[in-house]
Amino acid sequence: MDIKKCAPGKELCYSLSQHIGKCAEPVVRTGEKICMGQKIARADGKISANILSSVSGEVTDVKAGSHIAVKNDGMYTPVKGYGQKRSIIRMSEKEIIKHIYDAGVVGMGGAGFPTHVKLACKNNDNIRLLIINGAECEPYISPDFALMVSESSKILSGILVLLRLYKNASAVIAIEDNKREAADIFLKKVKHIKNIKVKLLNSRYPQGAERQIIYSVAGEKIGMDILPADRGYMVCNVSTVKAINDAVCESIPLTERIVTVTGDAVRSPCNLKVKTGTGFTELILAAGGFKGECKKIITGGPMMGKAVYNMDSFVTKTTSALICFLNDEVSACRTTPCIRCGRCVSACPNRLMPLIMAEYALNNDYEAYVRIGGMKCMECGKCTYVCPAKRSLTQMFTAAKKSIKGRGGNSA
Ligand code: SF4
Ligand code: SF4
Repeated sequence: MDIKKCAPGKELCYSLSQHIGKCAEPVVRTGEKICMGQKIARADGKISANILSSVSGEVTDVKAGSHIAVKNDGMYTPVKGYGQKRSIIRMSEKEIIKHIYDAGVVGMGGAGFPTHVKLACKNNDNIRLLIINGAECEPYISPDFALMVSESSKILSGILVLLRLYKNASAVIAIEDNKREAADIFLKKVKHIKNIKVKLLNSRYPQGAERQIIYSVAGEKIGMDILPADRGYMVCNVSTVKAINDAVCESIPLTERIVTVTGDAVRSPCNLKVKTGTGFTELILAAGGFKGECKKIITGGPMMGKAVYNMDSFVTKTTSALICFLNDEVSACRTTPCIRCGRCVSACPNRLMPLIMAEYALNNDYEAYVRIGGMKCMECGKCTYVCPAKRSLTQMFTAAKKSIKGRGGNSA
């Protein structure tokens, strides 16, 4: 599977909120010259992540709480120590976590949770099973698949770093059976490694979600009110594992990722290696441009992704895909009242009652929304997909959860 390079362009822009938690705090000023791999914003508080520049050049705009803009000088001058190899043999657990923190690594499967926080759980010795999530279950998108085929050695090295943190754990690389090529590569690589196995999963959505993949791999159901780490599981997406290798073993921060650019509006759909901060326009150009008038763009997968309203957006650590359509079929659909068919209930992987949740969300009855478990919605989009009345159920739940969290409400 080919991965093309995408030139980052002259102007890059880094969102200060590329992760779950507090915005990063700028540490550079307008007019300052910076190197590639230099920290330009620091993590603010416990749940936050550093942001590092993917190019060298000059800072042209700093807006706290929003972004940092950088003019690319095209030299890619690395910061001191960039790319230096490190051995983990004598590295302490604390040092491993520190390298991951310094490099600004976050969950790249979509959530963007700061990895140094996730990995440093209360009792690492309790972790029995490390699940390397290569499910990539949403249709259309394939950055993880492309990475597994092209960078399997680095992913394996990242797994070994994680197994240093979790001494009592074994690892399973979980891959859906529509990505056989990747599974075959790892099967060969781990043949002689006792504590790393490969598990082929039936392709099914939303298998890539944390609790769903634990069930598929280990057969254990974990409720939303229990942390997987408390039951001995740690789940890490393959792209994140590769970023962990880069941070710990190669002194390379998270400033690059693979992005799928696809959809019927794109001339040459492809996977691109892209520097964070690159404009979406550059991605479309690298994919051969548009075939016609593009009516809708989604960033992320078609089920969980978000609509993009203009092309003035930039790649972040969690941008997995741009899907571009010639027709906006969703907007063209006419929404009709709920016919209480129950399809949304049958479809929900978290056994929620989307039709009732929608009623409460629409009436801003957030107390009732929380009471019936609405905060357990993982916004997978399945209820919206099956609804014959074409109701935007997931959109309602995203908005309701945001309002509740904004008021400091119940989180689960
Ligand atoms: S699937 Fe749609 S129409 Fe059917 S019960 Fe759910 S919300 Fe109502
Ligand atoms: S988006 Fe719908 S199907 Fe998915 S978890 Fe939420 S309520 Fe359930």
